[in-house]
Amino acid sequence: MGGRFTLPSQIDLLVQLQEVDQVLRANTQAVESSEGRLADLEEAYRLKSVATDEARTTSSALGTRQRDLEGRLQVAEEKMKDRRMRVTRIRNDKELGLARREVDLLKEEITTMESELQQVYEQVEAATTALVGLEGELKGLADEREAEALALKETVERLGEAIERDRGRRQQILGTVDESLRSRYEMILSRRGGVAVVAVRNGTCEGCRMRVPPQLYNQIQRNEQVFLCPSCQRMLHWRPEQSEAS
Ligand SMILES: [Zn+2]
Repeated sequence: MGGRFTLPSQIDLLVQLQEVDQVLRANTQAVESSEGRLADLEEAYRLKSVATDEARTTSSALGTRQRDLEGRLQVAEEKMKDRRMRVTRIRNDKELGLARREVDLLKEEITTMESELQQVYEQVEAATTALVGLEGELKGLADEREAEALALKETVERLGEAIERDRGRRQQILGTVDESLRSRYEMILSRRGGVAVVAVRNGTCEGCRMRVPPQLYNQIQRNEQVFLCPSCQRMLHWRPEQSEAS
């Protein structure tokens, strides 16, 4: 290499560390949100699938009940036809009375079955409509899942790789940061909403917008030591390349 170069100062390293930590945190949250979305899609499909199966069972049971009633109704109607024919041939008064009574009972039975069957037809219709609706919704959820799942899985994979890389990078930086500064950084990070190092611009702390005392400001610009903002207790970082004009 050759030429002049300066090693990054501790505060520069902490700035880099914080950048890596912020990316790590954002990527970790994005992975969690993608995985959450995937789980939601799966769960919505599963629940709809259970509801559709239940509707199918109901529909099928009603179909069985309809066929059963139709069969019994047909038997009763044939029987009544037969008994009515018989009535015309009976000459004995007592037998005629019994036969007519039987016809009346059959008529009653048929009327009951017909009204029952009417109800079942209505239930079958309602169940069929419900089932068709649920099947449509299930298909919609399957399509939605299919459309999103691949992209979500790709995102999770891609971010997972980035997270691995950043963890390595984090370890690398940590290896060069002073131990006590590192623990102080971690402490401030957890207490101050994920921002431990802030820039000072135009003599103002960018973390809390308070003016830094002039003497401290001069010390910060020397970049030799890590100073804390007297107001928000964050580590202060001065960037010489930033404009001081405005
Ligand atoms: Zn501050």
